[in-house]
Amino acid sequence: MNEDGSRRWIRPKPADGTWNRRRRIVAYVLMVVYLALPHIDINRKPAIWLNAVRREFTFFGYTFLATDTLLFMLLLGTLVLTVFTFTALFGRVWCGWGCPQTVWMEYLFRPIERMVEGGRMGSLQIDKSGSHVNPRRLLKNAIYFVIALVLAHTFLAYFVGVDQLAVWVRRSPVEHPSSFAIMAVTTILVFLDFVYFREQTCTIACPYGRWQSVLLDRSSLVVAYDYGRGEPRMKGTKSRPADAGDCIECGACVATCPTGIDIRDGLQMECIHCTQCADACDAIMTSIGKPTGLIRYTSREVIEGGKRHLLRPRTVVYPAALALVIGVFIWQLDTKAAADVTLLRSPDRPFTEEADGRIANQVRMRIANRSGEDQRYQISVDGVDEGQVVIPVNPFPVAEGKTETISFFILLPRRAFDEGDRMVTVKVSDGDDFTGEFPYRLLGPRGDTRRDGEHDSSDKDKSHPERKDQP
Ligand code: SF4
Ligand code: SF4
Repeated sequence: MNEDGSRRWIRPKPADGTWNRRRRIVAYVLMVVYLALPHIDINRKPAIWLNAVRREFTFFGYTFLATDTLLFMLLLGTLVLTVFTFTALFGRVWCGWGCPQTVWMEYLFRPIERMVEGGRMGSLQIDKSGSHVNPRRLLKNAIYFVIALVLAHTFLAYFVGVDQLAVWVRRSPVEHPSSFAIMAVTTILVFLDFVYFREQTCTIACPYGRWQSVLLDRSSLVVAYDYGRGEPRMKGTKSRPADAGDCIECGACVATCPTGIDIRDGLQMECIHCTQCADACDAIMTSIGKPTGLIRYTSREVIEGGKRHLLRPRTVVYPAALALVIGVFIWQLDTKAAADVTLLRSPDRPFTEEADGRIANQVRMRIANRSGEDQRYQISVDGVDEGQVVIPVNPFPVAEGKTETISFFILLPRRAFDEGDRMVTVKVSDGDDFTGEFPYRLLGPRGDTRRDGEHDSSDKDKSHPERKDQP
């Protein structure tokens, strides 16, 4: 903030250097990846598709269905532990190098700003004038809006898929007001993020910055100012006393910082470890004939005069936990059947008695098809030779990635239950990769002459009934 409490707009001075050149390459590659991923199909589905409406999440050819709770938990665990491991080893490398906010802001939006508004000084002058209708700024905002449209549509494509998005784009807003509203709001949010909110997304809104206090330790890799070498700082390069540090108080590190902080104040939550200050300071050091690296990638314990310890509890525990979770995840993925079949009992009655005296058990079968293609499941029941199985649709079609439920009936003569409940085997096959056999307990009156409506009302656990009223 400025002294009067108003916002201090940050117009960082570009600092070219080794790190910036490396980051620029990474940023351009990531931009292409971010834009292309929704358009790349793997197994006839987008590489990443977060379909919340259908409760399906597709990652590089594998689709997690709503029934994949364990797999999804393992995937989330993998992501969280990866963040923990990387942060313990490399600090906030994600913030400075990979986060879309940094990538788009520093390598697209800010360069456009400098180009249109006449460089950093041009932007500062427009800020100073207080004008809201400066033609250069209006032009910049118009360009920003077009880019925001592209980014918002790309962002939405991750959730609805490019095909659905194309339908939305081509149709009149009047025909689909809700989806148009989603697109409009997303575009406005992206636009406001880059035109107004900017670095505050990192310093105020992003929770990841706050995690750092627990995820970093003294040995983690950070961008830091070597105060042992730099202090006592002293302005100018001429007539410096012998005990003066290498910092000449030029302010280049502060002027280039995209979050507006002074790295010489120590490790700060606002620092996204982008290395711009390191490049700026290296250029100054080179120009005054001093070694580079006054600001550099290092660790706090090295800055304090110690040695960096690569082997420490969190660099052992986090990778070990990560390897374990990835191992279980791969094993689960590898052993996952091509379909999930669940047998459910009728929600109303455990069984009913037909007019002809036979006992009918209604079975509800839920099939989740994860085979990657549409399937027709053949259903059969073993162990009911004296009875009849009524399946309304057999084979039962289930589209790829869908979960469908079918109800069918197993009818047996009353005497079949004289000895108690009957175990049967329900078989399901897609005629290809998947064949499953599922034991199922049929319930009946066990010689009880009461009608079914009078029977077993206290039977709460219908799959494992305990009959206390048996004769
Ligand atoms: S202090 Fe340096 S590394 Fe941190 S955000 Fe600012 S310029 Fe980037
Ligand atoms: S750029 Fe380097 S020399 Fe200049 S103020 Fe920052 S730390 Fe000091």
